[in-house]
Amino acid sequence: MQGHLYIISGCSGVGKGTLLKKFLENNPEIKLSISATTRQPRKGEENGVNYFFISREEFLNSVKNNEFLEWAEFSGNYYGTKLNFTQKTLNSGTDLILEIDVQGAKQVKEKMPEAVSIFIMPPSVEELEQRLRGRHTEDEQTIQKRLHEVSREIEAGKTFDYKIVNDNLDTALMKLEQIFKGGSK
Ligand code: ADP
Ligand code: 5GP
Repeated sequence: MQGHLYIISGCSGVGKGTLLKKFLENNPEIKLSISATTRQPRKGEENGVNYFFISREEFLNSVKNNEFLEWAEFSGNYYGTKLNFTQKTLNSGTDLILEIDVQGAKQVKEKMPEAVSIFIMPPSVEELEQRLRGRHTEDEQTIQKRLHEVSREIEAGKTFDYKIVNDNLDTALMKLEQIFKGGSK
């Protein structure tokens, strides 16, 4: 049997990474796809663990060779999901999560409508900004660029199969677990 594909999107700083880390600790049989990106690694991020950090030239070569299931430019950098890994994982019967932006989510839904899409909402834009700043991983210009995407992303989030507000982390985690227990839509 094929594995189920899940797409998780949400504004930068909403808590996707935090939620997914906890979720995957509780559900080690589910895999998270490691994307390729042209952005610089943050302190503590490792190549092949958080992302495959590659040059713009390498990225565009992969685009040309149709190696991506989806890809997008977000806030000045390229991000993409490797098609090969996605197919192999799903064919082996393993459930797979793509943590990607809303542009990538749209592309995946067009190609694989059976994918379950989940949009993580912030309790408020003010709280989102506080979380993004509180993370201390981006400079002011990068924070501004990311905040600039928020309303477009929240608008796009309306088309997702499920929405979860990440206010209390444990409550959001429980809601995520419930969606996965459903297995599909
Ligand atoms: P994303 O992966 O969506 O960019 P992160 O997981 O890095 O976001 O979270 C951004 C910041 O918000 C982190 O400092 C994290 O600890 C914090 N955070 C995540 N979820 C919550 C929550 N439910 N309540 C308060 N702070 C949170
Ligand atoms: P960050 O730089 O904070 O790690 O990620 C920025 C944005 O890029 C987030 O919205 C994240 O979900 C998205 N992203 C990460 N990997 C991919 C990918 O492979 N494809 C697309 N389209 N977006 C991605």
